Amino acid sequence: MTNNNDLIARVFRQEVLAMSAYHVADAEGLIKLDAMENPYEWPEDIKTRWLESLRACPLNRYPDPGARRLASVIREMNAQDQDAALLLGNGSDEIIQLLLMALPQGSSVLSPEPGFVMYRQLSHCLGLNYIGVPLRAEDFALDMPAMQAAIEQHRPKLIFLAYPNNPTGNLFDQDAIDKIIAQAPGLVVIDEAYEPFADASYLGRLGRHPNLLVMRTVSKLGLAGLRLGYLCGSPELIGQLDKIRLPYNINVLTQASAEFALNHKALFDQQTRLIRAERARVFAELNALAGITAYPSAANFILFRTPPGRANALFASLKQQGVLIKNLSPQGGILADCLRVTIGKPDENAAFLSALKQSLSSNP
Ligand code: PMP
Repeated sequence: MTNNNDLIARVFRQEVLAMSAYHVADAEGLIKLDAMENPYEWPEDIKTRWLESLRACPLNRYPDPGARRLASVIREMNAQDQDAALLLGNGSDEIIQLLLMALPQGSSVLSPEPGFVMYRQLSHCLGLNYIGVPLRAEDFALDMPAMQAAIEQHRPKLIFLAYPNNPTGNLFDQDAIDKIIAQAPGLVVIDEAYEPFADASYLGRLGRHPNLLVMRTVSKLGLAGLRLGYLCGSPELIGQLDKIRLPYNINVLTQASAEFALNHKALFDQQTRLIRAERARVFAELNALAGITAYPSAANFILFRTPPGRANALFASLKQQGVLIKNLSPQGGILADCLRVTIGKPDENAAFLSALKQSLSSNP
């Protein structure tokens, strides 16, 4: 009988063997400020009405494969150009996977780095040639000479630009993005996961650029548990991608719950305003701490730099005090000494700031 290692090596692709699984930290018992979630739950009366609305869901039937009712609520919410088409995914993660699955074997995929890890992870998994182009170290802006040279050299079929960018939180310059869209030999996906916290979007420009796609998610708005993302673009592009989408990728409960929730968008808008106000407060308080540099953010998180060599210890000390944030320092490069905190409720942010002050003074 062959042992399992032989079997695995024989059966699985090299790319899969070389990967590490996506790691999600255990937040049990901790104040959870690591994953860019909205910290607010729904008021009880809305929860009750939501549960009532689920009574009508037929779980014995497959979901509507086109999620038509939900799609029309999304179009209305975005006042979306009726000429643009929509593709729904099980989170925008699934849409990234779909986009990559549609590319020819060995294609190049390009994105600035540091960026959202799934672009790289899923590209590698699918055997694509992922090119990460470093952002400018001083301000995390696009390094245009490097981007343009890499586009010329690798002729990527797909470019991902997160707008605002994760984990840096900034919005890239629009002139630079326009140049990239014009130069790109393939598609450009503007990933607007953090759009609720920014005052900028490319949705209104879809008609102007045939190679442009805009991706969004309801996760950061406050519905991360539903797993719903969407991609907007020309009917021709969306039509091709729709062929490889699994027919029932948005389940009955997600369709009904998202439809209900997005019909109560005012609630999320109010929560978004609270998060933005807290973002300003946390940013100012972080920058007032000796040795800490916080970077301006158009998202619901803040990246900050700790004194050299102290990020790991500060992260561990925060955790010990009951606050979980994200340690980016191990990634090195321009993220050396960097931590990222998601904006939570006022009391959670206060607990984070006080734990950080305590850690800074006790671990000099
Ligand atoms: N894009 C960016 C830039 C993100 O940061 C994230 C989540 N962290 C996603 C996409 C994925 O979002 P979703 O929950 O819709 O899969």
